[in-house]
Amino acid sequence: MSSERSVTADADTRTDTDTRTADADIPTEARAGTRAGAPTAQPGDVGRRNVAAIMRTVLVHGPQPRAGIAELTGLSAGTVTRLTARLTSAGLLHELPGVRGPAEGGRPRVPLDLPTERTAVVGVHIGLLRTTVGLVDPRGGVLGQAVHAHRSSAPDVLVAQAAAAVAELAGGLGAGRRVLGVGVGIGGWVDTEHGTVVAHQPLGWHDVPLHRLLSAELGHPVRLEGTVRAMALAETWYGAATRARSAVELFIGNVVGSALVLDGRIHGGPRSAAGTLTHLPVAGARGPRCDCGRYDCLQAVATDASVLAQARAAGSAGPGDAFEDVIARARQGDRPAAHLLRRRARHVGRAAALVLDLLNPELVVLAGGPLLTPEYLPDVRRELVRRSQLGGEAAARLVLSGLGPQALVLSSAAPFLDAYFSDPLGYERGVERLVMDA
Ligand SMILES: [Zn+2]
Repeated sequence: MSSERSVTADADTRTDTDTRTADADIPTEARAGTRAGAPTAQPGDVGRRNVAAIMRTVLVHGPQPRAGIAELTGLSAGTVTRLTARLTSAGLLHELPGVRGPAEGGRPRVPLDLPTERTAVVGVHIGLLRTTVGLVDPRGGVLGQAVHAHRSSAPDVLVAQAAAAVAELAGGLGAGRRVLGVGVGIGGWVDTEHGTVVAHQPLGWHDVPLHRLLSAELGHPVRLEGTVRAMALAETWYGAATRARSAVELFIGNVVGSALVLDGRIHGGPRSAAGTLTHLPVAGARGPRCDCGRYDCLQAVATDASVLAQARAAGSAGPGDAFEDVIARARQGDRPAAHLLRRRARHVGRAAALVLDLLNPELVVLAGGPLLTPEYLPDVRRELVRRSQLGGEAAARLVLSGLGPQALVLSSAAPFLDAYFSDPLGYERGVERLVMDA
């Protein structure tokens, strides 16, 4: 069984493979060519795609000797030797100290790794009340971040504020490091292909051409994505789903949403409208009235805000309390608070079962508020197993987000990092000629 994410290189140069060819490539042209701000990757540019495959392999599998890269990508040893030599001299790969292994007859195996000190990617998350800006190295290490409270929710004001925040953060980078590009995550309905925020009700935005506005201000390549889809991308590169061919991110916070990643690609569908779970009916559930008029929508019964509203109604939270206070009360023995959190966990389990049965991903990655209450994860799993056609097999498919406390910065940077690793030479000005024409 091979469940590992494929980083197989282009078939055109596969001169020495036989059994490995079944694994599909992550088609560079499809990933890089259908989004606003994409570089001009040519479908026929085999060398560029092989470079991308080599760099993705080192990213996903960690530092690799040349033989390991050849095995994992399916490229010939000669191609790997030639391209890695050029990538090393161009600074896109660097050699780690060699390890002497008995299998090599005493010859040292020199692992190649991605340098983390020469570049940075900016992640910008535009939230409801604040914008978070951070710097991430190509291995997903967060170098720094800053949070800016919003002065207004008007698009031009928020764009100017984000641009100033990026300039300030990038200005603090050492002379040896440059910004490759900017990833942007925002809630609401984001049309990735056209670079617009179709609708973001809490901000009052409709058809805002955010990609164009930010590109004009930032002076760096920009890649825009909806928050949950950006999180899903980050999980596949740096989080819980690095070894999965398919995964669904299931986000439960003050909003609910999902995103499907299949062979490293986000499924958005026409106008990137996929993944909405807001009004998914949860059988047998009843929460506060949803804005659609029903009482059993996932948004009404499972969000942090819904739990808080119900806790207030039950006397387990005061008017000034937050969702975290409900968790604290439950941990102090407040039974109604604990009951609400357990019930929310069961609702999440039902939603997860539906997602799992409908799409059958290798993993359902749970993110958002449930991360704050791991003690209720067994309740989520129990309900998932009870409701899914997969039964007991379903339990292992549910995992928690692996993005950690820096999830917001990492996920916001992910749309750009994803684009970069689909076609590194498209974003390395001056290096392409060095690598391809040497
Ligand atoms: Zn509803």
